Amino acid sequence: MDRYEAIIIGGGPAGLTAALYASRAGLKSLLIERALFGGQIVNASLVENYPGFPDGISGVELGSLMYQQAIKYGPKVITAEVTNITEGQHYNISTTEGSFEAASLIIATGSQFRKLGVPGEEKLTGHGVSYCATCDGFFFRDQDVAVIGGGDTALTDALELSRHAKKVYVIHRRDQLRAGQLHQQRAFAKSKLEFIWNTVVEEIIGEKTLNELSLRNVKTGELSTLAVTGVFIGAGLTPNSQSFADIVKLDDAGYIITDETMSTSSPGIFAAGDIRRNSPRQVACAVGDGTTATLSALKYLEGKS
Ligand code: NAP
Repeated sequence: MDRYEAIIIGGGPAGLTAALYASRAGLKSLLIERALFGGQIVNASLVENYPGFPDGISGVELGSLMYQQAIKYGPKVITAEVTNITEGQHYNISTTEGSFEAASLIIATGSQFRKLGVPGEEKLTGHGVSYCATCDGFFFRDQDVAVIGGGDTALTDALELSRHAKKVYVIHRRDQLRAGQLHQQRAFAKSKLEFIWNTVVEEIIGEKTLNELSLRNVKTGELSTLAVTGVFIGAGLTPNSQSFADIVKLDDAGYIITDETMSTSSPGIFAAGDIRRNSPRQVACAVGDGTTATLSALKYLEGKS
């Protein structure tokens, strides 16, 4: 079994930064990502709050630059899903592409889009139901669409969609938005956006493609339908921590508990980025976490040698 001084799981900003620091520090490192490198930022049309890019940068480009820099110093990189981790003399990492041994481990698996869990959602995903306005907004040119949620994702999705769609309904379960002030101001200024407050989606309806949403006002109980051809779900995120529940402590929501050194409940295992409890979920913070986690891993390895 191949043995590494540092194995990094997850190829978003936190994992890519950890891989960069680990390989530059001379650690024999392995970076494991199950799908696309770059993490959630690849869904952002424009990242305006990452320092160094005063005019903003597309998420795809930023992710690609981070990836190029991370692999420059030679970590081994594989695309695989981690299926199990056990503790022996080192940690044994089982993946869909084989098993590896790690003297230290950095978990940076982030989170994924939260599903609404209503009838029709799964069946019509890709046929009117989407979780990424940047990827799919273009297909809804001059059509009526809806966005679900009241956070920054929902509002940035709605703003992105307003460039293509005829009308954008923002359906939120409360009467106050969670999104930051800047996004709120921009959204309220767009005449194409219409807010539907205190309302949840009960069903997503359509045979082959989306026709309408069945809605319920949570204050009055009133039921209604809304004809749209696209619905973009911006209801937040859930942590990708299922494979780690037996090896590190998670909080009630499934996020990994760390201290300020990014150490978890297991010696030699660190967590970085959106996967850890109380992450501010910003690219700049994920980058900082990845750095801290690797510096802590280095200290841990030095202590062992
Ligand atoms: P979020 O802040 O957790 O917001 C999720 C929204 O979806 C909330 O408004 C929530 O309602 C709603 N929601 C959750 N579950 C729902 C359900 N089952 N049915 C209906 N509505 C539901 O998630 P996010 O907007 O994805 O943002 C995640 C993080 O990324 C945040 O820290 C955010 O600031 C950051 N972000 C930043 C930017 C940026 O450009 N700066 C862009 C995107 C995201 P409640 O409000 O009632 O809980």
